[in-house]
Amino acid sequence: MADTFDLTVIGTGPGGYVAAIRAAQLGMKVAVVEKWPTYGGTCLNIGCIPSKALLHASEMYEQSRHQFSQLGIDVSPSLNLEQMLTHKDDTVTSNVTGIEFLFKKNKITAFRGTGSIADTGKVLVKPDEGQGQTIETKNIIIATGSEPVGLKGITIDEDKVVSSTGALSFKQVPERLLVIGGGIIGLELGSVWSRLGSKVTVVEFLDRILPGLDSEAARQMQRTLQKQGLEFKLGTKVTGVEASENGTQIATMEPAAGGEATQFEADAVLVAVGRKPYTDGLGLDGVGVATDERGRVRVDAQYRTNVKGIYAIGDVIAGPMLAHKAMDEGHAVAEIIAGQKPHVNYATVPSVMYTSPEIAWIGKSEDELKAADVEYKVGKFPYTANGRAKAMLATQGYVKILADVTTDRVLGAQIIAHNAGEMLHEIAVLMEFTGSAEDLGRTMHAHPTMSEAIKEAALMCGDGAIHI
Ligand code: FAD
Repeated sequence: MADTFDLTVIGTGPGGYVAAIRAAQLGMKVAVVEKWPTYGGTCLNIGCIPSKALLHASEMYEQSRHQFSQLGIDVSPSLNLEQMLTHKDDTVTSNVTGIEFLFKKNKITAFRGTGSIADTGKVLVKPDEGQGQTIETKNIIIATGSEPVGLKGITIDEDKVVSSTGALSFKQVPERLLVIGGGIIGLELGSVWSRLGSKVTVVEFLDRILPGLDSEAARQMQRTLQKQGLEFKLGTKVTGVEASENGTQIATMEPAAGGEATQFEADAVLVAVGRKPYTDGLGLDGVGVATDERGRVRVDAQYRTNVKGIYAIGDVIAGPMLAHKAMDEGHAVAEIIAGQKPHVNYATVPSVMYTSPEIAWIGKSEDELKAADVEYKVGKFPYTANGRAKAMLATQGYVKILADVTTDRVLGAQIIAHNAGEMLHEIAVLMEFTGSAEDLGRTMHAHPTMSEAIKEAALMCGDGAIHI
């Protein structure tokens, strides 16, 4: 008789692989099922990691052309796109093979093929070729992630009309790139191709970019990206894209509220209007696992579905579609299955957009605090007053800290800065411990660092900063 596993995880993205490793560390006999040729899911293969490789490389190219001379470095850079894509691919390979190593190290049994839940305690694995097999298992975690949302009237061919996946691999720089969607993915990939030479136009249905982000920060980011050459058409919807006879793409668009249609010609189109949970072929109906109105697997606070022994985490359930959210849920659910009582704090999920400068935010925005009638104070310190930023030609941006008027407790923060994503975490730790702005302001920060702006913004929630 085949082995019975304590746990079988379907999907090896950040949610699935972390759950599998943590469960193995806790002594469980673990299997994973993955339908792609490599582990790591969207994040490692076609998401976070390759996009950051291109963002870094394209930023270096941009800096070498426009900033190095000011630092006394005279160079004449030229773009080798093939090598830049090779760097991206090498980065992906290095990361996905790292997961393979971790599976082996933790004695996790990996099955290749599409997994479906045949019954409670039974996962059917169908490889692309050959016979399927059934895994007997005490528990199942669904960690199948998400896929890009399409748009009516637009056929994605991943060549000229692409999702984020195709936009990671254009073989040549499109002269004119139309980006549909002013969210993080559209703006990151729009920035990459803009730096490499594309004329980028971003069309957004709403009258602002980056919905969900503090509106002051979103306006500032829009101005910054405009200065970098990106154009924005807000309050506009694209109703169709067709190829012209000469091979260009003709997009038809109109005001979001309806009105006269216009046409826009581009060489390539990136559709980045969001992602949806991926549950195709999982057999959820057969086993009776409930989903919500948006197709997400319904879970309780312990990630349990309505069917005993079946759990779900990551992009396939409700909440922000972020790799670190999926990872923390993976960590937690493994511990829950092992009988522990972990907790994921959804009030402190950090978000980062890796443009230049980056924007990183956590907790409440000013808009949310106003809407909730919370009395708050603001400390906002600009990078033009930070010594390290001046030395690095990185004076764009600010740190904004929002604290409760009565208790001084930090409720949220936004940082627009070079490396904002790295700096945000001291605020995350502070918020985890329900710390105050004064705690942050009285914490000694090394000088000269970009992080000193956080201390100064915190001081501005009290008696005032020193350097402004
Ligand atoms: P996924 O990573 O989507 O993994 C799901 C896995 O399940 C896949 O490997 C899939 O093949 C497998 N699978 C699906 N169905 C089956 C089945 N039936 N049988 C077997 N295997 C199956 N997030 C961040 O936090 N930071 C970023 O910088 C960031 N950048 C991004 C950039 C881009 C371009 C994109 C597209 C996404 C980005 N994200 C980022 C989002 C992040 O990638 C996701 O939130 C994260 O990957 C979700 O993890 P997951 O484990 O839930 O699912």
